[in-house]
Amino acid sequence: MTEVRTYPMFIDGKDHSPSGGEWFPSDNPFLGSAWARIAKGGVEDVDAAVRAADRALTSGPWPEYTATQRGALLRKLGDVLAEHAEELAHLEVRDNGKLFAEMHAQLSYLPQWFYYYGGLADKIEGAVLPLDKKGYFAYTRKEPIGVVGIITPWNSPLMLLIWKLAPALAAGCTVVVKPSEFTSASTLELIRLFDAAGLPPGVVNVVTGFGADVGSPLVEHPLVRKISFTGSDGTGRFIGEAAARDFKHVGLELGGKSPNIVFADADLDAAVNGVVSGIFAATGQTCLAGSRLLVQESIHDEFVSRVVELARTARMGDPMLETTQVGPVTTPAQYRKVLEYIAIAKAEGARVVCGGGPADGPECGTGGWFVQPTILTGVDNRMRIAQEEVFGPVLAVIPFRDEDHAVELANDVRYGLAAGVWTSDTGRGFRMADRVRSGTVWVNTYRAVSFMAPFGGFKDSGIGRENGSAAIEEFLDTKTVWINT
Ligand code: NAD
Repeated sequence: MTEVRTYPMFIDGKDHSPSGGEWFPSDNPFLGSAWARIAKGGVEDVDAAVRAADRALTSGPWPEYTATQRGALLRKLGDVLAEHAEELAHLEVRDNGKLFAEMHAQLSYLPQWFYYYGGLADKIEGAVLPLDKKGYFAYTRKEPIGVVGIITPWNSPLMLLIWKLAPALAAGCTVVVKPSEFTSASTLELIRLFDAAGLPPGVVNVVTGFGADVGSPLVEHPLVRKISFTGSDGTGRFIGEAAARDFKHVGLELGGKSPNIVFADADLDAAVNGVVSGIFAATGQTCLAGSRLLVQESIHDEFVSRVVELARTARMGDPMLETTQVGPVTTPAQYRKVLEYIAIAKAEGARVVCGGGPADGPECGTGGWFVQPTILTGVDNRMRIAQEEVFGPVLAVIPFRDEDHAVELANDVRYGLAAGVWTSDTGRGFRMADRVRSGTVWVNTYRAVSFMAPFGGFKDSGIGRENGSAAIEEFLDTKTVWINT
């Protein structure tokens, strides 16, 4: 039998056992069995973590760091992450079942966030104000916003943590992280590595457990000044309401129902690859999944058959193997939800032209939660399968007549996270980028992200932006100083 690892929380630079004395299992989605046990935190643990972060903000070494020293520390943390990318990728695969190749590539890229925001730490500047009054001198200074609560989901635990953590630390904030209850291990390991590399105690603390037990108390804690959250829009709404009651700042990165729009004049080879990887990479469990294929009527049948042909060749199986292209769904609840949405779509009149059910061949492990890559045609944009986020390997195909019709369908959804446009007409690419209401539009590509490129949602997909130089502002407050001369 393989050893089950134990993970206490991490508060004030030390391991922290749960005040209630309880632990819960973390499952391997490929094997369908527990590989770790995680501390089940509660209100008292959250309070201890927030108080440690608050102390670190105002006393001890952290507030004494110059901006240049903060930058140097961030670059060091980037080096630590780079050294340990492979072992951290192993942990993430064990917890969320995503492909090792994908997680390793993601983690190998993430140090760039520490280098980039480390470089920005000593470029945070205030301004001298040109006043309309004589006898005064006034200037602004940018100060860290305070203790930041970071709450992350299970699909890309460290990537979504680091998008927030690097700018927060560059700004001089201190942090309490609450990772998803399904994927806590990699966050705990990373923060321990950072501690060993010299991150002062209390600057980053990790509390683990369930949303109601640790997430809510973190959101509601009076010493927390900002919540930076990635997750579902249901939880995002609760966080937004709770934060509004206490006048806290929020950053909300929520769900999507992103269109991948293919015009008849597109390079169809590139478009087929972009559509298939846009929805089936990470088993469809990404916020930016291109879950609606909008395809021009004149090429509908030909294009769909090419997408189906490629999707059918996808090899499912052990996410650790290089040959695997589609891994399991991360949790049993998510597995049931995906199958339920396929049933709903069929009941609404959609036709299954690829997949459509569970996958349980010998390659699918001893108890993993596998769903076949599924493609549905005959979908009307008003159906639930076209309006609601499935967060699984399910593509809904919807035909359109012309540019106006494509824009109307693309925007006829409450989300606005991302969109893809495939066309060989450059002017059309620009026009579509103007008219589609989403935080990111990719033209003749899909899924590209960078530390330099702002990412976030329009409409119900969220509030605020991560990445890019402006993201550091999300963790700063502006103070205006007046001097009577
Ligand atoms: P979720 O909302 O269920 O959980 C996210 C986190 O919130 C978890 O850590 C959870 O424990 C915590 N939480 C739950 N209830 C809470 C509460 N009452 N108070 C405070 N915290 C609470 O989301 P999930 O299922 O883990 O993740 C999938 C969702 O995340 C999808 O909707 C996906 O689109 C979204 N997502 C968005 C982005 C983006 O950048 N926009 C990226 C990845 C995932």
